[in-house]
Amino acid sequence: MATHPKKKLILVDIDGVVLAHGTQFFHWLDHKGYLKGTNEEEKTDFLYKWHHREPDHLADLYSRSSEEIIYTYQEPFKDAKHYLHLLNDLGWKFKAITCHGSSSESKEQRRRNLFYHFEEKIWDEIICLGHTESKQATLEKHKGENLIWVEDTYSNALVGHKLGLTSIWMRNNNHPPKCADCPIIEADNWQEIYNFIMKLST
Ligand SMILES: [Mg+2]
Repeated sequence: MATHPKKKLILVDIDGVVLAHGTQFFHWLDHKGYLKGTNEEEKTDFLYKWHHREPDHLADLYSRSSEEIIYTYQEPFKDAKHYLHLLNDLGWKFKAITCHGSSSESKEQRRRNLFYHFEEKIWDEIICLGHTESKQATLEKHKGENLIWVEDTYSNALVGHKLGLTSIWMRNNNHPPKCADCPIIEADNWQEIYNFIMKLST
């Protein structure tokens, strides 16, 4: 049973949670004719299936797209902009834990993207890890703090859960094998997370 954390701090993944994941890659795939006729909802699902069936082909497309486009501004994820600011008005702050790349350029790009859409004051900290770096060590610093942790990668949500965090898995059209004995909360958007937090507060 989830309880209200002592600290009004929410740990958040960014891609697929705060910023829409892969927007520019989707634009590139559309432009090249790979996603013709695929609607917004189907795109993430399509990519996920592709990743599992033909990972080498997808990696090759990523590589080709990155040579042609510069990954700069991603749009906010669904209703994130409204609800993150609303929660901040109620005293909550956010700590980003994102695998966007650990170079100074990557960190600066991520900060600029976030500050473009979200007021700087809502952020407690922005941690940029390497693309394939584990989030375990960063999350371990919060072991036992009972904080909320929002992730769209199920395995990372599970890491947080095992450390005693209140993990919320943003479904994001993914269908990973789940841990039957791990009561991880699921959400489709930030309105559901907001409602969950409001219930903790009463
Ligand atoms: Mg993510």
